[in-house]
Amino acid sequence: MILDLKDFLKDDSVYKQYIKGIRPESLQTEDFVKLTDDVMCTVDVYKTDENLYGEVKLVYKYMETCARCLDEFEHQVETEFKISIGEENGEDELNIELVDDKIDLTDAIVQSIYISKPIKVLCKDDCKGICQKCGINRNHGDCNCDEEIVDPRLDKLRKLLDKEV
Ligand SMILES: [Zn+2]
Ligand SMILES: [Zn+2]
Repeated sequence: MILDLKDFLKDDSVYKQYIKGIRPESLQTEDFVKLTDDVMCTVDVYKTDENLYGEVKLVYKYMETCARCLDEFEHQVETEFKISIGEENGEDELNIELVDDKIDLTDAIVQSIYISKPIKVLCKDDCKGICQKCGINRNHGDCNCDEEIVDPRLDKLRKLLDKEV
């Protein structure tokens, strides 16, 4: 995604907000993240006497697989990162080149999506998971398997493990 900062650089305002939707095709993340909709991108750009810097906020939706029942579902993530534009400040912001008063945020956005994508997500907080015996997805229906007789100590352990998911 390329932002043209020309007008902002010319006038004497110190702040400008840019809001753009980015087509998933233009980010080419499908091997790792299957985006299902435009990525909403809000860029706040600030000007000081010496520096140009910005805050980029992203909202994206993608197809996720539930870590417990393995169902696919659409999941939304919000993330943000800071950038310095043009001259490097030596801070921990990501530095973006300023070419002909334009900045290209494509690589930074792709990177940010990769980093922010959660490792484990549940389709819902109370996902019932898969029956250990028959393999049925217990969110979609009950099976006739016997209720497992669970050792209370094991049950405690299972609850602890579940919390990590
Ligand atoms: Zn689930
Ligand atoms: Zn079952």
